[in-house]
Amino acid sequence: MKHLSKIYGENKAVDDFNLDVKKGEFICFIGTSGSGKTTTMRMINRMLNPTEGSIKLNGEDVLKADPVKLRRKIGYVIQNIGLMPHMTIRDNITIVPKLLKWSEEKRNERAKEMIKMVELPEEFLDRYPSELSGGQQQRIGVVRALAADQDLILMDEPFGALDPITRESLQDFVKDLQMRLGKTLIFVTHDMDEALKLATRIVVMSHGKMIQVATPDEILRHPANEFVENLIGKDRLIQARPSITTVGQVMYNNAVSITPGRSLKEALKLMHEKRVDTLLVTDDTGVLKGYVGIEQIDYNYNTATSVDDVMTRKVFYVNENSIIRDTVERILKRGYKNVPVVDENKKLVGIVTRASLVDIVYDALGGDSDTQTHDKKKEDTKPAEKVEAGDDKS
Ligand code: ADP
Ligand code: MG
Repeated sequence: MKHLSKIYGENKAVDDFNLDVKKGEFICFIGTSGSGKTTTMRMINRMLNPTEGSIKLNGEDVLKADPVKLRRKIGYVIQNIGLMPHMTIRDNITIVPKLLKWSEEKRNERAKEMIKMVELPEEFLDRYPSELSGGQQQRIGVVRALAADQDLILMDEPFGALDPITRESLQDFVKDLQMRLGKTLIFVTHDMDEALKLATRIVVMSHGKMIQVATPDEILRHPANEFVENLIGKDRLIQARPSITTVGQVMYNNAVSITPGRSLKEALKLMHEKRVDTLLVTDDTGVLKGYVGIEQIDYNYNTATSVDDVMTRKVFYVNENSIIRDTVERILKRGYKNVPVVDENKKLVGIVTRASLVDIVYDALGGDSDTQTHDKKKEDTKPAEKVEAGDDKS
């Protein structure tokens, strides 16, 4: 498809759409309602003529082809099933094979094969659509598009009204068609899970324009903009980046800590040894209680004895299970050099430094994934530098 547009009055239903689909691909269109998905599909099999642009199928100009012949070469499942009410299920399934002049025997074989595929009883072949439930009709709508064994199959939200189990088995079925039989599918869905499961490439559409065309993996890792991110949803984005999902996975686990009962002399010695200017304070069980900085020790060295006497009890910390995306901005905005990380029992487990955030920001802004360094977290690096006073966990 090249520079394809469909204009209705002032409205560009499809606006300069460009896509090169290879044989055997599984393309999923996804986008908000009215973004031009159906219009694009209908131009491919010439149920609509483009206002501008061109479409070629196997090198041949679709716009010069006989539309009726063209449609017999392309399987099509439409949004609202579209079974012929006055025809039996058998006749519905074999409409195109009949047009293609398959023998009756071959057609009957095919009908049986098809109905088996969607796990409906063979007796149903002699029923009429109204004698089937909505979900059953939809399954028939799907196999009807496959019955003629066309190489290109267009499917417009074919599984919308199906229960989850049927939906899943049909998803597996169409995926198998593509993977095993090498069929080319162009498939519209508004369900991102479906698109991610099925597609070799996803086309994201909004207001007639293609926003992003990429593999599922690429879309998840590098959504083109906020629109795509919202379409994907936060949970999937996090799942897609296992290396940077939670704070616990990017923190350094060598935070230097001390218990409140220790003397200032011991604290100073520890700072000196570990080359840090701040110690996190934990109780005997490791629960974070606060921090103590070199200034506090310096000012109070002659009047106080223990860490407990001088420590700051208010400390900003993050939970190891917090989602990084939610945490990074808070940390950066507050200007902390580093932030202690605790587990669900508020036990100190590590520290996040500004340096470790660089990787995350780099990744979020679309940095080159080959050069990321998330794995460095386990290496010995410079530990806690300074924990600024802050409000408590927020
Ligand atoms: P989608 O399938 O992504 O929900 P459509 O392709 O059906 O979107 O529609 C794209 C846009 O074109 C919408 O704004 C819709 O209102 C408009 N549209 C579709 N068909 C017609 C038509 N026959 N006349 C005028 N506008 C249309
Ligand atoms: Mg539509």
